[in-house]
Amino acid sequence: SQITTDMATLTKEVERFAKGKKLEIETLQVRETYRKEFMGNVSHELKTPLFTVQGYILTLLDGAMKDKAVRKKYLQRASKGVERLVYIVKDLDMITKLEAGDLHLNKENFDVVELIQNVFDLLEMKAAKKNISLAFDLLYKEPIMVNADMDRMQQVISNLVVNSIKYGKKGGTTEISIENLIKNKVIIRVSDNGEGIEKANIPRLFERFFRVDKSGSRKEGGSGLGLSIVKHILEAHNEKIYVESVYGVGSEFSFTLEKSKNRTKTGRKKIKP
Ligand code: ADP
Repeated sequence: SQITTDMATLTKEVERFAKGKKLEIETLQVRETYRKEFMGNVSHELKTPLFTVQGYILTLLDGAMKDKAVRKKYLQRASKGVERLVYIVKDLDMITKLEAGDLHLNKENFDVVELIQNVFDLLEMKAAKKNISLAFDLLYKEPIMVNADMDRMQQVISNLVVNSIKYGKKGGTTEISIENLIKNKVIIRVSDNGEGIEKANIPRLFERFFRVDKSGSRKEGGSGLGLSIVKHILEAHNEKIYVESVYGVGSEFSFTLEKSKNRTKTGRKKIKP
C-alpha cells in the first residue's frame, strides 16, 4: 500500500508539472502573437513616411535638384517626413517603456493651471491653422496644485488637446475645465465639438495603433499611439481616464489627478516645450 500511495503522489506531481508547462507554453504563445502583431504594426507605421522621404530624395537625385524652387519644396517635404518618423519612434519608445513598466515617475507638486496654459501656448499655432479656439475658463485665477509627474502630465494634456484639434471641426472650440472632486482629487476635462466617435469604437480607442479612420488619421499625422500612451501614464499614476462622445457632435476626455497635500511648488518653474 506504501507503493500505491507513492504512485498516486507521483502521478499528481507529474500532472501538476504538465499543467504548469502547458500554461507556460500558452503564455509564451500569447506573447509571441502579441509581439508579431506589434512588429507588423510598427513596420506598417514607419513604411509610409520612410517611402515618402525616399521618393523625394530619389527625385532630387534624378534631376529635380537643378531647379532651386523645386529643390527647396522637395527638401521641405522630405524633412516633414523625417520629422514624422522621429515622433513615431519617440512614441514607440515611450509605449515600450510604459508597457514594460520601465517608466520611472518623477512626482512633484505643480500648478496644473499653469501647465494647461503652457500646453495651450505651445499648440496655439496648430489650432489657429484650423481656426479652432482653445478655451480655458478664466475663473482659474488661483493655482491648483497637484502631485504628479509634470512632464508626463504635459504629454497627457498635450495628446488630448492635439487630438481635439486633429478631429475637431474647422472653426470649432477645444475647452478645458478643472473641477474639484471629493477625496483630494480634481477632474480635468478636455472637450471638443468635432466629429465625435461612434459608440462601437469607444472601447477600442486606447488600444495601441487603433484608429477609427485609418487614412484620415494618418493624414493628420498620428501614430495611433497617443491615447494608449495617455492611458498608460494615467494608470502609472493610479488614475483613470473617461470618454464621452456623441458621433457628429463632439467628444470629451476626462481624467483624475491627486491634489497635492502641501501647497508649495516642488516642480521646476520652466515648462519644457
Ligand atoms: P492617432 O495618432 O490616430 O490620433 P490616438 O491614439 O491619439 O491616435 O487616437 C486613436 C483614434 O481615436 C484616432 O485615430 C481617432 O480616430 C480617435 N480619436 C481620438 N481623439 C478623438 C477626438 N477628440 N475626436 C474624435 N476622434 C478621436
